[in-house]
Amino acid sequence: MSRISDTWHGIPREKIPWFPSVDEIKCIGCSLCFVTCGRNVYEMVGNKSKVVNPYNCLVGCTTCETVCPVGAISFPPKDMVHKIEREYAVLKYVQKESKRKGIKVALDKARAEAERVVSQANRRVEFTISGHILERDIPKKLVDITEKCDCDVVNLSMNIPSLKVCYDEKAPSVAKFELVSQKLEDVSHCLDEMDKLLEENDIVIVEQKKIS
Ligand code: SF4
Ligand code: SF4
Repeated sequence: MSRISDTWHGIPREKIPWFPSVDEIKCIGCSLCFVTCGRNVYEMVGNKSKVVNPYNCLVGCTTCETVCPVGAISFPPKDMVHKIEREYAVLKYVQKESKRKGIKVALDKARAEAERVVSQANRRVEFTISGHILERDIPKKLVDITEKCDCDVVNLSMNIPSLKVCYDEKAPSVAKFELVSQKLEDVSHCLDEMDKLLEENDIVIVEQKKIS
């Protein structure tokens, strides 16, 4: 059976002796630990539970110990884990992981919100634009416009073949996005404002497509 992870918050997993031990005499072979553990730590051998993949055990988890009806499962003292956490200065590593996770959670929320807005939109217009989009701060200017007219810009993606060439040689970049509105039936005012903004900043509309 392959290892689920070789490390735990940056610490080699085998340096952490956190895994269950089964008292064979107490074990009544009910299989509860075997079917409860989602990490394939156990196998049933004959009428007894056996720990076959100890380092697959999630550090800190004690679920199987909790559910075992006869108290046949035990774990090392929690102090052992705390000592290893201090020894490897794990909290510094965890802070970085926490930042990464925080960004992912925020991104997932923003995606879900964009999907909700799109699914409830009365009007959707898809744009492909090209020009000096970053240098002219176009995304921020689009936000300023849409905030004033009950619209939103969603699913913005940019294609910048080379940042260096884009900034040093003034090469254009391309952006795609959707202008959506949940409240308005008529978004022509917002489209006019957008046209004006893009023209003032020498941004070309490569394609403008009404979706709904
Ligand atoms: S839950 Fe307890 S009694 Fe049941 S198989 Fe596992 S160790 Fe044995
Ligand atoms: S503590 Fe959790 S991960 Fe470890 S063997 Fe038990 S159920 Fe599986």
